[in-house]
Amino acid sequence: MIHAPDLQQIVTEIADEMRRRSDRGEVATYIPELARADPAKFGIAVIDAQGRVAMGGDAEEPFSIQSISKVFTLTLALGRVGDRLWRKVGREPSGSAFNSIVQLEYEMGVPRNPFINAGAIAVTDTILSGHKPREALGDILRFMHFVADDTAIVIDETVAASESRTGFRNAALANYMKAFGVLDNPVDYTLGVYFHHCAIAMSCRQLAMAGRFLAHQGKNPSTGFTVVPAERARRINAIMLMCGHYDGSGEFAYRVGLPGKSGVGGGILAIAPDKASIAVWSPGLDDTGNSHLGRIALEALTQRMGWSVFGA
Ligand code: GLU
Repeated sequence: MIHAPDLQQIVTEIADEMRRRSDRGEVATYIPELARADPAKFGIAVIDAQGRVAMGGDAEEPFSIQSISKVFTLTLALGRVGDRLWRKVGREPSGSAFNSIVQLEYEMGVPRNPFINAGAIAVTDTILSGHKPREALGDILRFMHFVADDTAIVIDETVAASESRTGFRNAALANYMKAFGVLDNPVDYTLGVYFHHCAIAMSCRQLAMAGRFLAHQGKNPSTGFTVVPAERARRINAIMLMCGHYDGSGEFAYRVGLPGKSGVGGGILAIAPDKASIAVWSPGLDDTGNSHLGRIALEALTQRMGWSVFGA
C-alpha cells in the first residue's frame, strides 16, 4: 500500500534541516533597514488544496515581502486595465539583474517584464493613474487584505523610509522610463507607492494564504472569492515561472520546477497548481538576489511531494 507523504512531517523536517545549515547566503544591505534581518531565521508555510496549513520554523514572523508584492500589483493592474498593460511592459525573461538599467536603453524604456524593478515601477504607475498616491497605496493594501483574508497586514514604514532615502537606482530607472513616456505620473509619486508596497510586511502563513488564488484557478478556496479568472491565474503563474527570480529564474525552474516570486527580504512565494500555495523565508540571499535557503527548502519540498509542474 502506498501512503501519501505527510505534509506537516516533511515541512517540520525541512525546517529542522534549514535551521542547522551553516550556508545561509548574504542578507541584502543596499536597503539599510533590511541589513538588520537575522540570517538565522527560517520559516515555511504550505497550504494544500484542502486548506490544511503546514508550518515550520519562523512561519508566523512578519518579514519584508519586497518584490513578492509585484505579483499582487501585477494582478491588480491587470484587473484595472487588462491587456493594455502589455503596452507598457513586456513578459519575457530578462536574463539581467533585478535593478539593471542597460536593457532599458536599447528597448526604448519598455521594461522586459513586470517583475524586474523597472517593470514593477511601470505597473505601479498604472495603478496610480487617476488616484492620489495615498489612495493607490490604500488600494494595494486592501487587495492584500482581501487575498490573504487578513486585515492585520501592514506596511513597515521604517523599511519604506529606508528605501526612499537610498533608492537612487530605482529613481534612475523611473526617470529613464519617464523620458521615454512610459510613466504617466510624477516620478516621485510612482516611486513613493512602489517603495511602500515593497515594504509590506507579512508572515509565511499570510503569504501562502494570499497566493491561494494562483494555485486554484483564480479562486481562493478559503474565502470562496474569485480573485481573477482561471486564465489570468494561469498566465500570472507563467510569468512567475519565467521571470520570478530575475536571472536566477532558469535555475529555480530547473531545481524547484514551480512558478515562484522572490524578494530581497528573503521570501519566496511558490505555486504548485491545484496542489498548494507555499511561502518560505530566509533572509540570506544568493548571488542572484534570491533567498539561498528558501530555494533549497523549496527544492526539498517539491522533490518529496512530487509537485513539479514538469511531472512527478
Ligand atoms: N524594493 C526592492 C527594490 O526595488 C525590491 C527588489 C527585490 O525584492 O528583488 O530594490
